[in-house]
Amino acid sequence: MTKKIAVIGGGVGAMTAVWGLLQDPDWKEKYEITVYQMGWRLGGKGASGRNMAEGARIEEHGLHVWAGFYENAFRNMRACYAELTEMGLRDPEAPLGTFEAAFKPLDHLFLAEKVGEEWRPWLIDLPTNDKLPGTGNEVPAPWVLFLRALKALQKLIETGTFGKAQSAESAEAARRLSPLKAAHLRLLTLARTMPMDPRAHKASVNALLGSLIRGLQSRVHKLETPENLENDATRRALYLLDLGLACARGLVESRVFLRGYDILDQWEFTDWLRGNGASEAVLDSVLMRGCYDFVFGFHAGDIHDRNAGAGTAIRAMGRLTLTYCGAIFWKMQAGMGDTIFGPYYQVMRAKGVKFEFFSAATALRIGPANTGIGKIEMVRQARLAGDSYDPFVTVRGLPCWPSEPLWDQLENGEELRASGINFEHEAPTGQPFTLERGRDFDTLILGASMGSLPYLTKDLAKASPRWKRMLDEVQTVGTHAAQFWMTETADALGWRDVVQTSNPPEAIPNGPLRTVITGFAEPLDTWADMSHLLDREDWPNPGPASIAYFCAPAPDGETLPEFRADLAQWTETELPKLWPNLPDVADPFYPPGRGLAGQYARVNMEGSERYVLSTAGSVFHRLAPDESGFDNLYLAGDWTRCGLNAGCVEAATMSGLAAANAISGQNLPINGGADISSNSTIASTAKYQSLSATAAGWPLDGFYAKGKMTGWFMFYAMPRAEVEALLPPGLHLGASDLVEPGYHPVGLSFCHYEHVRGSFVPGFMAMKPYGEATFAIPGLRSDETGQADLLYPRRLYVNNPSAIAAGKLFYAMNKKPATIQQDAATFVATDPSGLSLEAQFQERDETVFAPDHPAFGAITQLLGTAFVTRTPLGQQLFNAFNLELSNCWIAPASGQVRVRDPDPLGFPAYEGAVPALGPKAPRGLPGAFRIWSSWSMTNPLDSRRVAKAAEAEAWLRETY
Ligand SMILES: Cc1cc2nc3c(=O)[nH]c(=O)nc-3n(C[C@H](O)[C@H](O)[C@H](O)COP(=O)(O)OP(=O)(O)OC[C@H]3O[C@@H](n4cnc5c(N)ncnc54)[C@H](O)[C@@H]3O)c2cc1C
Repeated sequence: MTKKIAVIGGGVGAMTAVWGLLQDPDWKEKYEITVYQMGWRLGGKGASGRNMAEGARIEEHGLHVWAGFYENAFRNMRACYAELTEMGLRDPEAPLGTFEAAFKPLDHLFLAEKVGEEWRPWLIDLPTNDKLPGTGNEVPAPWVLFLRALKALQKLIETGTFGKAQSAESAEAARRLSPLKAAHLRLLTLARTMPMDPRAHKASVNALLGSLIRGLQSRVHKLETPENLENDATRRALYLLDLGLACARGLVESRVFLRGYDILDQWEFTDWLRGNGASEAVLDSVLMRGCYDFVFGFHAGDIHDRNAGAGTAIRAMGRLTLTYCGAIFWKMQAGMGDTIFGPYYQVMRAKGVKFEFFSAATALRIGPANTGIGKIEMVRQARLAGDSYDPFVTVRGLPCWPSEPLWDQLENGEELRASGINFEHEAPTGQPFTLERGRDFDTLILGASMGSLPYLTKDLAKASPRWKRMLDEVQTVGTHAAQFWMTETADALGWRDVVQTSNPPEAIPNGPLRTVITGFAEPLDTWADMSHLLDREDWPNPGPASIAYFCAPAPDGETLPEFRADLAQWTETELPKLWPNLPDVADPFYPPGRGLAGQYARVNMEGSERYVLSTAGSVFHRLAPDESGFDNLYLAGDWTRCGLNAGCVEAATMSGLAAANAISGQNLPINGGADISSNSTIASTAKYQSLSATAAGWPLDGFYAKGKMTGWFMFYAMPRAEVEALLPPGLHLGASDLVEPGYHPVGLSFCHYEHVRGSFVPGFMAMKPYGEATFAIPGLRSDETGQADLLYPRRLYVNNPSAIAAGKLFYAMNKKPATIQQDAATFVATDPSGLSLEAQFQERDETVFAPDHPAFGAITQLLGTAFVTRTPLGQQLFNAFNLELSNCWIAPASGQVRVRDPDPLGFPAYEGAVPALGPKAPRGLPGAFRIWSSWSMTNPLDSRRVAKAAEAEAWLRETY
């Protein structure tokens, strides 16, 4: 039976998800796909329209360029254009008849640098390469990018520029930077001698690398003298070095090469760079300003309130500048709607996907069993005059989306037009109807973006704390945009003269400057010369001489009249700083006589039109496309946790592909979906050594236990002889440098478990939440595994019969029933035999990401090892209870603990105050702490692999 798939929205995320499903050769037998799109066009934030009353001019939501690293997005576009012609839907000779005609490379950009009161545009020309985007290019692992960055910095020091063009200015900069040469060479040489597999980096070598970077940093800071900073080429080179080295230091010292970029996301990017030694001058510079402008990274649209998660920012900047294919940017050769969503629509429709325009969702309702989406409340915004809606107008041979509905295809179209109705309004209105699960859809792909979710998913937020947290934490920002059609070219307006004042002539292109500049004065910090689109519009002769697009974040609550008023002011006072001849041109705007009022301006303040931010700490609250928590709901869009986690076309594409894979079980490639991917630098031996259930190789990887846990952990020392007596045969105490000689560490934990289930069991069938008190002995050796560090859970008291049965049966855990009461941080376990465990903790409000706590090393030593238990037949069973320590949060907690266990094999008696985890690296055992963890546990059939892996882990730890 075919599965009915409803898709809400037609932005990049949703359209990619549909595209992904269509890649299944049997999709027709498997799926019936219907896209419900509010209004008359696909595209969402990337939608554009043709204004047929104004020369069929292209009107965009804002300026869009594609980065050369958008491997996934380009791959889909290549395939889509190929199908367009193969299916006879477009002649390859027609406008935008091929992928190559639709996208053209751009190898440079400008930053609007302000020195004192003077604007000095900074032209950054970047080398091109032979790689073609979307043809199977791999995303290099962080360590490879780090090496590339060091190499690029070497070029900068030696030649005074990153760019292609050498000049007298760059030679002078190189001369002034020459004191850095030797120190950088030492750094590069050391990095190059280090193994490509970061797991094999010795801690001592890593520390040396960090100190070489710090040394070079202080040399750079010394060179940042007023004299050097006044020289354009030297200042620019110094800022690039300053920023590059702060990034390098942070990456090395946080061990991102092993752990991925996300671990940096708790920090705001600027703060993180400051903490890693970037100078205030570079943090204030246009270099940094450009990074934020690029992603509208300002809270509430206030440019004085920067906010971008450091991990997401550094991943995106690294990929942008170090992994591009062909050129750093690619420009679409028509409106984004015409270039992307036109071909997608034509191919999908011809294949049999249904599109319901003017169909807006108003609420998702949870079904009776409380597990999935049961109903989608919708409104029909307009009725069609005929049977179907043909959404295109043709402009100079190209099918294009119009900037307003084709009213003649709607019932009472003229009246609707006259009413001024806005079909893309945040709270859509119209004739209500309902899509029912089972009747109209089985599976839902939610492609509406973050800004629409508060009204669409109120029920989901009530039912799911994770969903609510996502709505609370993932922020959006309004944007505004303007487009000018000018009677003069940018050169004639004086732009080239401005560029020449602060850039060497060798770097300036002879032909059109093809400007993209950011960092300029608000309210419009970014400008792109889009004159290449003149050929795609349909103006009378003489038409406009040039086209300029501008955009920027908009302050929250801004209205279009307010923006237009600011725009008029800015055009008079600021724009002439880029176009000095503007005031001298009598009628600069096209069509003549209409002035600024005849130009296009818009504010994107509502619903899905709002841009999705990646603010510090928010990435952890995003949900992955297959992680909605509702069994028939999949998510597609740049707001999901998709591996790039940033507001851009590539992130939305990756998310759509992940949604398609989750629904169809296909394995469509998603390049860059993980920083440290299986085909990156990690050697297969190292992968084999992985203890984690989820990283295990075939054939048992699919089956493991998983769940969530929060709990309080404390460790203390007991005499070795007493601990030895608690061990079963075949296990011995290893040495521990965390306690005094003659003693051994033991641990108590009081935990609350939720969502515990087998990996193949759907979430709603998880065990009921339960409490568990554990006494465990870490730092053990087994006769079977030799030197491995192991942890033996000596006794567990649990208040859930299923958890006891499963633990005993599958994992040979020493579990016993007890009544456990837990109230916030107080834990009381009792049973009729006289067991009494009482623990009361006071948590400090100092939650940190576990890997960043100075005690992380000690904590991993105690908890990050394989478990060993003993089956009733006397065999040792090895499990990896992987707390994902490198991905979880901890908080110090102090308290009182009292343990009385009548069972001599249970918990040894203990009574006393528990010191909290301190802010510094402990000399011995860490103090008590609370932990939040999403854990997994290998299945018992994997015992041999875990034993081997544990052996290898211990070997690695001791060797490096
Ligand atoms: C001004 C601006 C400039 C940008 N510039 C660039 C750039 O240069 N390069 C780049 O890579 N990215 C850029 N971006 C980001 C890029 O546009 C987005 O990342 C991408 O378009 C997001 O796609 P999406 O599918 O996640 O969401 P959206 O594009 O927002 O798609 C959501 C879809 O859901 C529909 N929808 C919403 N609510 C409902 C409802 N209730 N019922 C039915 N349908 C609904 C919408 O109409 C839309 O079709 C820019 C964004 C903006 C705002």
